[in-house]
Amino acid sequence: MHELSIAHNLIQIASAAAHEEGISRVTAVHLKLGALSGVVKDALLFGYDIAAEGTVLEGSKLVIEEIPVIVNCPNCGQVELPNIQRFRCPNCDAITPEMIHGKELEISALEYEEDDPGGVESPPLIKAEEVKE
Ligand SMILES: [Zn+2]
Repeated sequence: MHELSIAHNLIQIASAAAHEEGISRVTAVHLKLGALSGVVKDALLFGYDIAAEGTVLEGSKLVIEEIPVIVNCPNCGQVELPNIQRFRCPNCDAITPEMIHGKELEISALEYEEDDPGGVESPPLIKAEEVKE
């Protein structure tokens, strides 16, 4: 399963980041997932739980932020494509080959438990450019 290997990559990246930050228990991983990333959200969620077993991420939640396809229209600027089968501007029907968003597959943040309870820190920001094989 394609999504399972992606889930394994995510877990590897997130646990390496957690290790670097000295985090012993991650509670949630936030992921940006573009509509054109080629990843099935439900399959990824399923694979995540399996891949997280036995790691510092075991029992953590994968929080997926779905990113719509945003293209650059030569006439209108940035527009959201309502239909990813059709790369034309929904306003003026111009062809829009330049994609700005939609292929994201990257970890945006980790949530974790502090050893010192009650302490709240902003989660570290991690770019995961190489999540896909
Ligand atoms: Zn347009």
